[in-house]
Amino acid sequence: MNTIINNIEIIKTKTTKINDVDFGNLKFGHVFSDHMLECHFKDGKWQAPKVVPYQAISLDPSAKIFHYGQSVFEGMKAYKDANDDVWLFRPIDNFKRLNISSKRLAIPELPENYFMDGLKTLLQVDSEWIPKQDGSSLYIRPFVFASGNGFHASPADEYTFIIATAPSGSYFSGKVKVLIEEKYSRSANGGVGFAKAGGNYAGQFYPTQLAIDKGYQQVIWTDDNTHEYIEEAGAMNIFVRINDTLITGPTSDRILDGITRKSIIELAEAEGISVEVRKLTVQEVVSAAKDGSLKEMFGAGTAAVISPIAGFGYKDTDYDLPELDDTSYANSLKKRITDIQTNKAEDPFGWRY
Ligand code: PMP
Repeated sequence: MNTIINNIEIIKTKTTKINDVDFGNLKFGHVFSDHMLECHFKDGKWQAPKVVPYQAISLDPSAKIFHYGQSVFEGMKAYKDANDDVWLFRPIDNFKRLNISSKRLAIPELPENYFMDGLKTLLQVDSEWIPKQDGSSLYIRPFVFASGNGFHASPADEYTFIIATAPSGSYFSGKVKVLIEEKYSRSANGGVGFAKAGGNYAGQFYPTQLAIDKGYQQVIWTDDNTHEYIEEAGAMNIFVRINDTLITGPTSDRILDGITRKSIIELAEAEGISVEVRKLTVQEVVSAAKDGSLKEMFGAGTAAVISPIAGFGYKDTDYDLPELDDTSYANSLKKRITDIQTNKAEDPFGWRY
């Protein structure tokens, strides 16, 4: 018999996969929990969500997601503390951003209770899948795509919303060298850069591969118009420390309003660090690297939280950054934020949920 929690119907799997999982040795986003939340938009409204076994989805070849790329997603994490209590980090912000993305892609927005109650119910059903090991978490991937049919280039009349989860180890990328992009762009004014739209990532893969072929791991995106301003680092927001000031660009049409980014800004300000949210030129970063005032560069995002950059390439020259110790902004802010996320420290900001 199906059960109901928080008004949400649950259809449980008959065979759990959990005994096949080595929780001490998890990669990032490679194994998937037993269940997923599924919800359909049809006849002009979102139908009640259900928790169902994690399974393949069947779509018509004319489904509009395949042709017109109408799809948006989110990335978030759940943590389990020493008392087995489960915590999310600013989840309402992910919900709001999903709807901001949906609106831009002409996808119907979701009601908040479908997202939040659906997520909570899914986590209750799959609570055994939330890892406890330090650095591990349950990565949560909510996404919405056009499942309605037809070759006509217009918005679909049916959509599917799914939340799938993956127990994941820490996102460890090693020494990251990045290439400052001079030709390609990930977004433009009036475009969809501020949305977490699937196509934004497809568009990044080719230029990123060119950078990898040259010996870098990631691309630093610059503005599409002049390529003179630093915008994002791969699929992360970017911070630069010049002397003792932490600088990040303002969000715009072209830059994703990252939840880690805004948390770092607030946290750094609360720690008494001088933070500047302003446009940052490539020239300023290159000059600072030359005169030694460039102390740190790091990416900020849910997956890695903070990912330090060891060096960058620009116009056929490589620049190295100093080695980081525990007093670096990258390492100290990462510890502060993960301690809050995992309930190891007080949360004066009210971010933990
Ligand atoms: N920029 C881009 C393009 C991203 O995909 C992400 C990851 N969601 C971020 C920045 C960081 O956002 P957040 O801190 O909310 O994960």
